[in-house]
Formats: sequence, structure tokens, C-alpha cells
Amino acid sequence: MADKLKFAFYWNASCGGCEVAVLDIHEKILDVAAIADILMWPVAMDFKEEDVEALPDQHIDVAFINGGIRNSENKKMSQLLRQKSKYVVAFGACANFGGIPALANFHHKESIFDRVYSETPSTVNPEGVWPQEITEVPEGELSLPTFFNTVYMLAEVVDVDYYLPGCPPPPDLILAAVEAIASGNLPPRGTVIAGEKSVCHSCDRVKEEKKVTGFRRIHEVIPDPERCFLEQGIICAGSVTRDGCGTRCLNVDMPCRGCFGAPEGVIDQGAQLLSTLTTLLDTDDLEEVRSIIGSIPDLSGYLYRFTLSDSLMKRRIVAELKDKEVASH
Ligand code: SF4
Ligand code: SF4
Ligand code: SF4
Repeated sequence: MADKLKFAFYWNASCGGCEVAVLDIHEKILDVAAIADILMWPVAMDFKEEDVEALPDQHIDVAFINGGIRNSENKKMSQLLRQKSKYVVAFGACANFGGIPALANFHHKESIFDRVYSETPSTVNPEGVWPQEITEVPEGELSLPTFFNTVYMLAEVVDVDYYLPGCPPPPDLILAAVEAIASGNLPPRGTVIAGEKSVCHSCDRVKEEKKVTGFRRIHEVIPDPERCFLEQGIICAGSVTRDGCGTRCLNVDMPCRGCFGAPEGVIDQGAQLLSTLTTLLDTDDLEEVRSIIGSIPDLSGYLYRFTLSDSLMKRRIVAELKDKEVASH
């Protein structure tokens, strides 16, 4: 029998969903176990940084790395896995585009720490203690990773070979990636393992070219299950989102939230969605458009729920974008 492949899974700034998403392939996990040994999987096994450092370079066949790059440890482990792996797959929306953690890019480090360690109603911290990178204790020196001002995409700190989007990636695409690796029948480097067109392309809801007078949130209405969400005034990101998930949200009567990122030809998913919403309104009055769009709760969250690190803006306060921080830790 040929040597088994060697896989590694790793999480950076992640909710953990992508770490366990591989189990969504159910009994097919036995097929994966038959062809590959898993050398690292933090959610399931206690592997240490030294264990990875001890491996020869390119010893791992494929590292599936999920999560955004929030701190210096995320960056260091990604670089280490890059060095030890033949292929790196950006696994899930957070690794691909920054994802949910990148919504913090609407704030900077100080305001995040202020909120978390001082301002929340449940916080009692009269001395204003914040985490320090170095703390001296009788036993020696304790250290924490450097918290970056900005959440980065994986591809901003290491070379990425393949992109597997989704929050988390769906089981059929995970299996397709594993099968391509096992057979050696790999697509060109840089390929996004998903569709090229938009989710609308696969959605069979009826579109009637109708305009709307405003937008409502999904919990405020009982939507018509046959008609396009957008034309019912419910924000759906399907037109600005890459196809390939099998319309899994639409299938359960939920609008698309955009977790596959922008399709080919769209350079900024949020800006494109904003453009879509404004042109859908049944008015030419600019002030009215501003008022309706401005009244959408958490508009920026709707527009960039998964892709703020991959947007033209990248973060809200450009003057504070510490481009050099990621190079200096
Ligand atoms: S892509 Fe979704 S499931 Fe994966 S780590 Fe990010 S938030 Fe969690
Ligand atoms: S906007 Fe949403 S509901 Fe409408 S066609 Fe596209 S994916 Fe379907
Ligand atoms: S419908 Fe949209 S949000 Fe839902 S899984 Fe597909 S791409 Fe992601």
C-alpha cells in the first residue's frame, strides 16, 4: 500500500466551527482516515508547536488552516505550517476573507480592549487592568501573543495554494478537495474550490424585476418561500456571493449572508451589495435613498459580514492601518 497522506488542521482566529467541519462528512471520515494520517488537529489532539517544529520541511502533504490572523501567534503558526507543508488550503470564510473576526476592523485595538476589559456591564475592573504581552511572576516571565490592530486574511501572511470558502465549508466541497489531493488530480494553484458565478445563478426563487420601498429583517416577516428575498425587501447577498454551497441557506428559507465571498469579477462584495440595494429602491430621490439605506440596522455588518479583510477598505480607520505590524512580529 502506498504511503498514507499526511494532513494537518489548524485554527487561528476562529469560532472552532471549521475545526469540526471535517466531521460533517460523517462516515466518509473513515475514507479520509484510510488515505491520510492527521498529524495536527488542535480541537481533537494535543499537539505542541515544538512537535511541528521537529518535522522535516514539507513533511505534511496538506495543511487546512482556518481562521483569520488576529495576533502574532496566528501568524507564526501559519508560517510554520507553510514551511512544513507541500500545500496550504485556506479553509473557511475567516481564513479566506477575515470572516466574522474581521468585523473588529471597524474598531482598533484600544477601543476593543476598552470595551472588553472596562466597559461591558458585566466587567468589574476598577484598576483598569489590561492583558500585557510580558508579565513577570515569581516563577519567571509569562508572555502573550501580540494582538494586531487589524485582522488579516491567511493569504496576507503566507502563500496559499487553494481556497475553500464557506462558514464553514460544506461537506461535499471538503470531500472534493480531499479526493483531488488523494488522486493527485489537483486544479491549478490559486483555485477557489467552489463555483464561479453567483448564488442567484443556482437559486430557483422567482424573480419578477420588482422594486421595493424599504428593507426588513428576516425575523420581522414571514417570507414567501417561492419569491426572491430581495424583491420582498429582505436583504439577501446571493447576487454578490460565489456559488457552490448548494444554496443551503435558501433551501431552509433563509437569505444568503455571503459566506462564500465575492464571485469572479466582483472586487468588493460589500460595495457591490450596497449598489444592489440602492438600485432596487423604487425612488430616484437621493435623500430618500440615503434615509432608507441609513435606517438598515448594522448596515456595515450586513455588507461585510465575512469579507472586511478582503474589501478595498480593509479597516475603517485607514490612518491606523499598521501595515508594518504584520511584518514586525
Ligand atoms: S468560517 Fe465560520 S465556521 Fe469557520 S471559523 Fe470562521 S466563523 Fe467559524
Ligand atoms: S437575491 Fe437571494 S433570493 Fe433572490 S435570486 Fe438571488 S439568491 Fe435567490
Ligand atoms: S447561501 Fe450564502 S450564506 Fe448560505 S451557505 Fe451559501 S454562500 Fe453561505
